[in-house]
Amino acid sequence: MKLKALQSDITTVKVDVIVNAANTSLLGGGGVDGAIHRKGGAEILEACRKIRATQGKCNPGEAVITTAGNLPAKYVIHAVGPVWNTGGKDKERLLANCYLNSLRLAIENDIKTIAFPNISTGIYKFPKELAAKIAIETVMSFQQDQIEEVIFVCFDEENYKLYDELLRIKK
Ligand code: ADP
Repeated sequence: MKLKALQSDITTVKVDVIVNAANTSLLGGGGVDGAIHRKGGAEILEACRKIRATQGKCNPGEAVITTAGNLPAKYVIHAVGPVWNTGGKDKERLLANCYLNSLRLAIENDIKTIAFPNISTGIYKFPKELAAKIAIETVMSFQQDQIEEVIFVCFDEENYKLYDELLRIKK
């Protein structure tokens, strides 16, 4: 499995699946979530609504998969990150679960290439360096032989530099 960092807009990345930093409602929000729904079109929201209707809200750490609508990817995995500033002590574990549950869904759906945004590091205020360490360590320790490439898509330069540096050290 190849890991790489890319500074880009995740809605433009051509991989089997892109991961969305969703919220518990699954019905769209700001940041990367807003961009994915805007560019992906109504089909994604419709699929999210159906999932909501059958299983209710999605808890932090959990993930669901839908079509990618008009995006270049085939699917979108909607993972709900933890909010840094409110309640609970398990934020690190919940953030790791976002990556783990996304990878599990990718395996179940025969996915070979996956792109992650920097979940929880925007509106949810998770410290960027800690989030990057958790993301990389969780993905690296995930045992499997199906996924060929994992791309960490960083929107801001600070995150890109963190990922680029951490991935260099781990090599
Ligand atoms: P959260 O609520 O999980 O913090 P945000 O969408 O606010 O979600 O931010 C998560 C990360 O996604 C942030 O690092 C933000 O800079 C980044 N981001 C925002 N828009 C995009 C985009 N179009 N492509 C990739 N990453 C994005």
